[in-house]
Amino acid sequence: MKKFPLVLIVEDEPAIAELIAVNLRHNGFTPIWAEDGEAAQRELNAVLPDVILLDWMLPGQSGLQLARKWRADPRSKSVPILMLTARGDEPDKVAGLDAGADDYITKPFSTQEMLARIRAVLRRRAPEQVADSVSIGALQLDAGTHRVSWQGAPLKVGPTEFKLLHYLMKHAERVHSRAQLLDKVWGDHVYIEERTVDVHIKRLREALGSASTMVETVRGAGYRLTAQVDSAKLIAADA
Ligand code: CA
Repeated sequence: MKKFPLVLIVEDEPAIAELIAVNLRHNGFTPIWAEDGEAAQRELNAVLPDVILLDWMLPGQSGLQLARKWRADPRSKSVPILMLTARGDEPDKVAGLDAGADDYITKPFSTQEMLARIRAVLRRRAPEQVADSVSIGALQLDAGTHRVSWQGAPLKVGPTEFKLLHYLMKHAERVHSRAQLLDKVWGDHVYIEERTVDVHIKRLREALGSASTMVETVRGAGYRLTAQVDSAKLIAADA
């Protein structure tokens, strides 16, 4: 699993939200709290979480309506949703799953149960976040431990650069436009400009050091990660 998955908690009761947030933080997650659908939508617009914990009974739009809405939206449709419900009724659970929730947790629940269910939906929905390593030439990336190395030496790579590198390595030798990278790496983020990609490519190259020549700019088309680095370039870079 990737480091510190982002969990959006949509819950109108501060005491419950706080309890969930504290437990998540202690167990390697990054919680964000929204008290209703409107606040949750603002958080979703800003950044896509890895999981949504969605209370059923909320002021304004219900958890059920929100689940339906987010499932219908191409941006959020693949974010796992765990419904929190105080009801144990079978028809409600079915309605929640019909609305697109991945699973539900009946209140009151234990921290262990909540964590187990979150980890389970993350594994099901995002298999690429589970231990997965790629190597291209002497460049290695381990998604499980979040480590990158070049010729066996560890490199320091920021979180966005890590995602970008992971994607480029998994689809090496192919040219990706900025729009495609935004879609695949940032998750179809309509609020991010294409030049943001250039900023992160620059940071990625800085982080890669002498392996930076593997990230090629293809004029007028985008970027590509290649193992076919001209050895003359490497020698020139070392000289
Ligand atoms: Ca509630």
